[in-house]
Amino acid sequence: MQKEAKKIIEFIIENGASYADIRIFTKDQKESIQVLNGEVEQLSQSLAAGYGIRVLYKGSWGFASHENFDNFLSTAKLALENAQSSSLYRQDEIKLAPKKIFKQNFNTQTEIDPFEVPIKEKIERLLFLEDKLKHSKFDYRGASLNLYKREIFYLDSEGAEINKNLLDVEAGLWANAFDSNSQKQSRSYYLPQDPNTSVGWENILSDTQFNHGDRLKNELLSLLEAPKCPEEVCDLILLPEMMALQTHETIGHALELDRILGYELSYAGGSHVSLQDFGKLTFGSNKLNARADGTVKNSPGSEGFDDDGVIGKNIPLIEKGLLVNAITSRQMITEANAKANKKIFSESGGANRAQSYYSLPIERMNNINIDPGNDGNLEDIIKNTKNGLLVEAPTSWSIGSNRENFHFACEIGWKIIDGKISHVVANPTYRGDSLPFWKSLDLVGNSESWQLQQVFYCGKGQPNQAMRLGHGVPVCRFKNVQVGK
Ligand SMILES: [Zn+2]
Repeated sequence: MQKEAKKIIEFIIENGASYADIRIFTKDQKESIQVLNGEVEQLSQSLAAGYGIRVLYKGSWGFASHENFDNFLSTAKLALENAQSSSLYRQDEIKLAPKKIFKQNFNTQTEIDPFEVPIKEKIERLLFLEDKLKHSKFDYRGASLNLYKREIFYLDSEGAEINKNLLDVEAGLWANAFDSNSQKQSRSYYLPQDPNTSVGWENILSDTQFNHGDRLKNELLSLLEAPKCPEEVCDLILLPEMMALQTHETIGHALELDRILGYELSYAGGSHVSLQDFGKLTFGSNKLNARADGTVKNSPGSEGFDDDGVIGKNIPLIEKGLLVNAITSRQMITEANAKANKKIFSESGGANRAQSYYSLPIERMNNINIDPGNDGNLEDIIKNTKNGLLVEAPTSWSIGSNRENFHFACEIGWKIIDGKISHVVANPTYRGDSLPFWKSLDLVGNSESWQLQQVFYCGKGQPNQAMRLGHGVPVCRFKNVQVGK
């Protein structure tokens, strides 16, 4: 197969293309199990294979994909023809920034391959964990497990040859109930990863990583009796699941370079950030350090190499509050530099990724992380808060199309008075404008509070591509935030 792929690349280049790459998925395996109220609700398995061929001809892309390996040559011809046709109508010539060439393998670290664990064992574990959420006052309780395994061979006309064996494990626990006002309350928990361990069934067996049913049950019971979140301006402390969403929506999407260049305007929206802002814009307080880190271990956003064949990099995006870089690919940095008429971006950040072999790669977040700070752990931050609200787990989110403002609702809040948690509040919400909000960041939790959250459904592109990624985030406090409204 790899030999044949090399011949196909040669054929495309001999026929006038300036660049070509092939991504062969020899295996694209998925398994989903969901248990609900003590029974198996869903069990599905799928196994696919296929390949996608991308061709650059006279500065225009062409792409074709197929699942039948007997059609390799005809698919290559189709990709070339598509590039030739689109080159007749192109406005600006697409150029790819230089990259280092690698012939390398990348494997997700795992101890126990979850695909090798008998289905019966997986169901029993989920039922055991889900049973901890059992209560007569609750309507639904459930647990889910989604497993993804991909074996990918990447080859391009510049000489890169990369083999990837990737495993992602998504798992969740949740319960719902109605309070005395007939309003639905819920608590959920989704498996984070630990960059110091591994990805695999071992995390589902780990009590610290995933056995959180007892805590969720108690929190949901508290919510059923809790007063509503007060409407006020106070200090807001975000726990990791909320910090991940906040980072995703108001830093991640705002800093995708294709979005800044207007490519997503008709679907996902634009960005308030302009090309002139890099190196100049104060994005947040001097405690804010954000990065696009494709090197974090055990995250679904870490694939070793992106779909341009660029190695995973750790790129600072915001340093001490100053905007310094974007989420970038080979194509977009050349285009952005040309548009700005100066060299803003020096190299691809390695963030060009496709959902599958049949999708064209576009700029996607890998891991958009916030560095841990020096303001202690969660307890310390609570102790230092006079009048505050601590929140966790998003229920709804609404964001301006240019990511300039937002309104988020959370599953649970805890009112903090005089450095102590006073009581649980229901239906907590908060709102803000992105830049003033990040400028109000005044306490950043230490590495003890830092957690690698997983995101499994980030939508972007037309046709839509659902991408998996990560956010390593500490607990953070923001001053004077409007909550409860
Ligand atoms: Zn997203």
